[in-house]
Amino acid sequence: MAQKISIYLDNAASTPMRPEIVDVMTQYFNENYVNPSSVYGAAVAAKVAMEAAAADIGATINAAANEIYFTGGGTESINWAIKSAALTVKNKGRHIITSTVEHHAVLHTCEYLEKNGYDVTFLPVDKFGIISTEDFAAAVRPDTILATIMLANNEVGTLQPVAEIGAILKTINQTRKNKILFHTDAVQAMGHIDIDVDALGVDMLSMSAHKLNGPKGVGALYIRRGVALPAFLHGGGHERGRRAGTENVAGIVAFGLAARLAKEEMAAEAKRLSALRDGFIKKILKEVSHSYLNGHPTQRLPGNINLAFDCIEGEGMLLLLDAKGIAASSGSACTSGSLDPSHVLLAMGIPHEKAHGSLRITLGRYTTQADLDALSEVLPPIVQRLRSMSPLWDDLIK
Ligand code: PLP
Repeated sequence: MAQKISIYLDNAASTPMRPEIVDVMTQYFNENYVNPSSVYGAAVAAKVAMEAAAADIGATINAAANEIYFTGGGTESINWAIKSAALTVKNKGRHIITSTVEHHAVLHTCEYLEKNGYDVTFLPVDKFGIISTEDFAAAVRPDTILATIMLANNEVGTLQPVAEIGAILKTINQTRKNKILFHTDAVQAMGHIDIDVDALGVDMLSMSAHKLNGPKGVGALYIRRGVALPAFLHGGGHERGRRAGTENVAGIVAFGLAARLAKEEMAAEAKRLSALRDGFIKKILKEVSHSYLNGHPTQRLPGNINLAFDCIEGEGMLLLLDAKGIAASSGSACTSGSLDPSHVLLAMGIPHEKAHGSLRITLGRYTTQADLDALSEVLPPIVQRLRSMSPLWDDLIK
C-alpha cells in the first residue's frame, strides 16, 4: 500500500506527477495502447504523439526533435553516452575527464571503464562543489576522448561552469584531429534552469522525466546532429536504429508534456522557489547555532537547500522528521541505506562529522511557504534533542 506523505521536501529524489500528466498517460494505457511500430491509424497517432514529445523536449534545451532519443531514464542515458562514446573511439584514445561530484550513474560508469582499460581523471572541486576550468584545461591530454561534467548537482544543487568548459573544448577541438566529445548530466537541471545545448557546447545531454513532475523510468539522451554515437541497446530499429525496444509511449508522451509545462512555468517557478529557499536558509542559519549551508549561496538550483549541523546524525534527523510527516533526505536517495557520508560533501572538503550531519531539503512545484514554516518550526527542536544526546555537543559548547 502506498503511504501518504504530509510534507514532501525530497523533490531532487523524485517529484510528484502532475494530474494532467497522469491523465495523458492513462489515455495511452486505456485507449491508445498499441505498439507504435504497427501500421494502423492508432499506431500512427501514437508515433505522431511521440514525435511531438521529442519536439517539446528539444525545445526545452534548444535542440531539434530528431536530436532527442528516448531511454529508460537518466541512468540509461548516461550509460549510453559514456560507454558508447568510449567504445566507439577507443582506438583513438582512452582518457576520460569527469568530476568527483558526479552522480553515481556517471562515477560508477567511469569506474567500470577504468577496469576495462580506460584512464579517468576525476577533477576535484572547491568548497562550493565547483570544478576549476583551469584544472579542466590542464587535464586534457592527446588521448582524451570524452569529458562528462554535470550541469547541476543532485545533492548540493551547485551549478558547474559547463558553458565555459564547452568553450574550452571548442577551442581545443579546432586544432585536434581526434575531437573530444562533451556530455553533460542535466537530470537535475532540466525544467528548472534555462538550458541551451549550443550555448553549453555539449554533444550529448542526459535527461530524466521524473525530476520534472513526469513519470519514473523514462528519460532521453540529446545527441547533437553529426555525432556518431552507436546504439547501446541492440534489437529492433526503434529510435532511428539507435535505441532498440518497443517505446514506452505513455511515458514518452508524459515526458513531453512535463517538459512543455516546465518550460512555460520555469521563470516564475525559479523565482518563487529561490525566494522560498533563501528565506528558509536565512531563518535556520540564524536560529540554529553551529549550522551551515553546503554548496554555493547563489550558484545553485532554485529548489535546493543543503544544511549541515554540528554533532548530529543526518539519519536521526530524517527519522524524527518522518515521524512528523516530513520527507527529506540526508544525501543522494541512491545512497541512502548506506551510512557512508556523501561523496559530494567529502569532495567539497567537508569533514566526515559535518557531512554526516547534513540534511537535503529539495523544493518543487507543490512546495509552499506553509510547508517550510512547518519544517522551520520542528527542525530546531529536533536538532536540539539530538544534540542533547551527543557527548560531542557537550565538548563543543564547553
Ligand atoms: N543524474 C543525476 C544528477 C540524478 O540526480 C539522477 C537521479 O537521482 C540520475 C542521474 C539518474 O536518473 P534516473 O533516476 O532517471 O535513472
